[in-house]
Amino acid sequence: MKTNLLEFDTDGLAAYFASLGEKPFRARQVLRWVHQSGEADFARMSDLAKDLRAKLAGAACVQAPSIVGDSTAADGTRKLLLKVDGANAVDAVFIPESGRGTLCVSSQAGCVLDCAFCSTGKQGFNRNLGTAEIVGQLWLANRLLGGPRPVTNVVLMGMGEPLLNLENVLPALRLMLDDNAYGLSRRRVTVSTSGLIPGMDRLRDACPVALAVSLHAPDDALRDRLVPLNRKYPIRDLLKACERYLEKAPRDFITFEYVMLEGVNDGDAEARALARLAARVSCKFNLIPFNPFPNSGFARSSAERIRRFAAILQAKGVTVTTRKTRGEAIDAACGQLAGDVADRTRRSAKLRLTEVRA
Ligand code: SAH
Ligand code: SF4
Repeated sequence: MKTNLLEFDTDGLAAYFASLGEKPFRARQVLRWVHQSGEADFARMSDLAKDLRAKLAGAACVQAPSIVGDSTAADGTRKLLLKVDGANAVDAVFIPESGRGTLCVSSQAGCVLDCAFCSTGKQGFNRNLGTAEIVGQLWLANRLLGGPRPVTNVVLMGMGEPLLNLENVLPALRLMLDDNAYGLSRRRVTVSTSGLIPGMDRLRDACPVALAVSLHAPDDALRDRLVPLNRKYPIRDLLKACERYLEKAPRDFITFEYVMLEGVNDGDAEARALARLAARVSCKFNLIPFNPFPNSGFARSSAERIRRFAAILQAKGVTVTTRKTRGEAIDAACGQLAGDVADRTRRSAKLRLTEVRA
């Protein structure tokens, strides 16, 4: 089997080149070819010696997931369905905006955490994506979209909980930041977590990028219901972890995501409770109108309700943005990503939180 060079971050590639008896600067050259130029064909890496090109062609490859679906919504949002093995496909979503292009990347096929309102969670967990499968989404998107640097921002908000797959997510993040690869600043790479505290601490120490935390409720009773992980990591501890994260974060605030569920978490009382909670940590709120999917059991709050909710927070001095829903017609909106996970038998209907490890 050939070695897939997309599996390696900079250090990993240097070690691989050392194992071939090659100098570290060769690894850097190849890193630039692969990630900056999107080149997969060693024969075209013109500044490498011919014998090295031949050696690499025999031993290595540059292999991203294959595109099995590609749809574009009227607003320009483009969803790629990517096959990662015989049984699993995941989504990556490109969201063009004026002056920037954001790629929403998946980190797992399915998700074990089973949040009540999430279609990825509803389909259970199949497996972690490897580094090549994670960074391969960015590699593919840049190649496909063409032009200079189409992807300017990356958010790990696709399928899966990135902090449950740090082993593979961290090398992918390092590549996103590396000047010889994608060269994105730490502020332009955002990891979104449902609140896995040990993972937040690890990310802070290993590779602090911008952090979004899926809060969704102002108190533990409600959050326990919506985000079952809260039973293990309740709000008080979560806020402390946010403070610790901010000591090293590239931004001086945490983004709290808050999905607007009609009649569930969108009342004036919840808004006031959130404002009190927001006073305890430097943060901004991002309200996400719920994106429905079949049999979800939830409805989206009305636009008027969302405005009122935002106004209450703002009146208390909290910074709030409301996410525009994009790509709904192609099921590309937040929380609608279902990929195509064929083996759903391992679904953990009753999550045993004690088994969740960071
Ligand atoms: N597992 C991580 C990242 C992926 S989910 C996390 O939970 O943060 C990305 C965001 O989409 C999270 O804030 C999640 O709560 C939100 N989300 C999930 N389902 C949704 C839905 N149906 N409508 C709107 N947002 C949803
Ligand atoms: Fe997993 Fe995030 Fe969906 Fe919760 S919201 S089930 S953590 S992907």
